[in-house]
Amino acid sequence: MEHKFKKQYGQNFLSDTNLLKAIVSDGNITQDDEVLEIGAGAGALTKILDQTAKKVVSYEIDTSLQPQLLSLGLARTTFVFADALKEDIKKIESHFSHNYKLVANLPYYITSPLIFKFLTETSKTESLTIMVQKEVAERIVAKAGSKDYGVLSIMCQFYTSPSIKRIVSKKMFYPQPKVDSAVVTMVRKKQPEVDGEKFSMFIKKCFSMRRKTLANNLNGYNGIKKSDLSQIAGDIDLNLRPEMLSIQQFLQLFKNFEN
Ligand code: SAM
Repeated sequence: MEHKFKKQYGQNFLSDTNLLKAIVSDGNITQDDEVLEIGAGAGALTKILDQTAKKVVSYEIDTSLQPQLLSLGLARTTFVFADALKEDIKKIESHFSHNYKLVANLPYYITSPLIFKFLTETSKTESLTIMVQKEVAERIVAKAGSKDYGVLSIMCQFYTSPSIKRIVSKKMFYPQPKVDSAVVTMVRKKQPEVDGEKFSMFIKKCFSMRRKTLANNLNGYNGIKKSDLSQIAGDIDLNLRPEMLSIQQFLQLFKNFEN
């Protein structure tokens, strides 16, 4: 295959069949599943998905890959040549008859926005099994009090139970990236009891200055004066830095501020 790799699209392709099969198995994909892939590349992962799932819809932004992908003749796969981040979620989901699983070796330059899109704009993603940079994987699973704990950890753990399935050496990709990667599987929990979009804005506000206290970061939130903050916060100490609070405590704090 002749292909001019495009760095701006995060094109680092895989070819090792054992690794590709392991990713599909990490996603717990069976013949009953409908699967969304983001970033087909040369179709290496798509081929294994096509052999395993009931149906595959695979997005690819780079139209120069179209001849290669269509020549694979995959029976259960529909390729869509469009930007998956910009595509309306309803349009993406019109391909599926019910809930679906997302499996992808994600383009690293839009990892976080893609994760946020498929967590917050829909509840139909049963699970996300994604190859991301190792440091992003560590942030996704980080616990309160650790240096990696932040907005990404809280939102991923609010919607799902995430786990790192395997570390993947940079040597497994072509062209080789600068850092190692990891496969993370996130299994969606039951629908959260609060508005995810508002909760996400609240968490971003709490972490607006990571080294400052919650009291400083929440000053002015919902028009609340600094002097009233601690009374509204109740049991939760706003003199702490945001990374010290568990997700349960953030939820409690959010509910106190919404009431
Ligand atoms: N799945 C292939 C593999 O594992 O070898 C390719 C993975 S590569 C890391 C990411 C792929 O995502 C590239 O082919 C890139 O062109 C594509 N891509 C980048 N941005 C995209 C977007 N916004 N929407 C759809 N595909 C995108």
